[in-house]
Amino acid sequence: MNRYEQRRGKLRKILRSSGVDNLLVTDFTNVTYLTGFTGDDSYLIITPADVVILTDGRYTEQLSRECPDLDVEVRMTGTTLSELTQEMVGRLKIRRLGLESDSATLGFYQRLQETLGGVELIGTSGLVLQLREIKDSEELREIRQAVEIAQRAFIAVRAQLRPELTEKAIADELDHQIRLFGGEGCSFPAIVGVGPNGALPHYRAGNARIAESPFVLIDWGARGGQYVSDLTRVLVTGKIPPKLERLYGVVLSAQKQAIEAIRPGARMQDVDAAARGVIQRAGYGKQFSHSLGHGIGMAVHESPRLAVKQDRPLKAGMVVTVEPGIYLSGWGGIRIEDDVLVTRSGHEVLSTIPKEFADCVVV
Ligand code: ZN
Ligand code: ZN
Repeated sequence: MNRYEQRRGKLRKILRSSGVDNLLVTDFTNVTYLTGFTGDDSYLIITPADVVILTDGRYTEQLSRECPDLDVEVRMTGTTLSELTQEMVGRLKIRRLGLESDSATLGFYQRLQETLGGVELIGTSGLVLQLREIKDSEELREIRQAVEIAQRAFIAVRAQLRPELTEKAIADELDHQIRLFGGEGCSFPAIVGVGPNGALPHYRAGNARIAESPFVLIDWGARGGQYVSDLTRVLVTGKIPPKLERLYGVVLSAQKQAIEAIRPGARMQDVDAAARGVIQRAGYGKQFSHSLGHGIGMAVHESPRLAVKQDRPLKAGMVVTVEPGIYLSGWGGIRIEDDVLVTRSGHEVLSTIPKEFADCVVV
């Protein structure tokens, strides 16, 4: 049994216990996870007896190479994927069909509702995502590779930092270096925030130059093949501001405490609280305005979340980011982010770029 059959077997168990039996998978990443097919624009129908991938003519060749064991239904030109779905639901005699509420649109639901009169449509959420939380050894190998590529790119870019470089130029160079080291590119548009720009949570990379502030925040990641990494470092590029050194120490200590709390069985909210407590005691609780971390895998943000009110336990095989921060409007932001694997006995920090304050000073 290959890894995709194993995953579909686990999904069928989840479907049985949630009383759905048949699921229409419309999230393309979930389709890839369950089949190994790396194209887009394709759905999967999974029933107790059948697995059918619904696609279009562009992908028949790729499908025969990537998943030769799957039933493939190709839509005719001039018809839509939604029409093919309706036809297949009829042919497979499905009476109850689970839909992925997080990806199917209301319009899609309504079209199915109209044409599949006798079929009961059931909204489901997170059924495949909960499987994706636990990584197998092959997935871990790909994540480690994505971390390695991101780190090499960062080290190369750090060595080239010059006062006149803009944030945009640094982000572009990260993407370029990731490709040179064998990755597909950045896993998301890199955030490069010089000085005060680092305090904006949704900042990307603009025209500010390194010389405009003594420090810069860089949040980047690589997409290796199907899997990603996500890291953040602050670099000191000018005269060291004493406040930066002090606050950096707070964030680093918060991050280390949270990482120490990671082990199977630890509640996600308690890991968040370990970091948040350190920052709150230093008087900056309000300036740590986001949750501590998130799962990474095929997507940059996926389940689980290290955040308040997340009372589920961590499990071996999860990979999460740990990224506390302090953000002061008009001054700047400090965030330190590493990727951490939950192991059977505790944790392993996958990213290894040094992060003591002295390591961040670019000379
Ligand atoms: Zn990040
Ligand atoms: Zn992140």
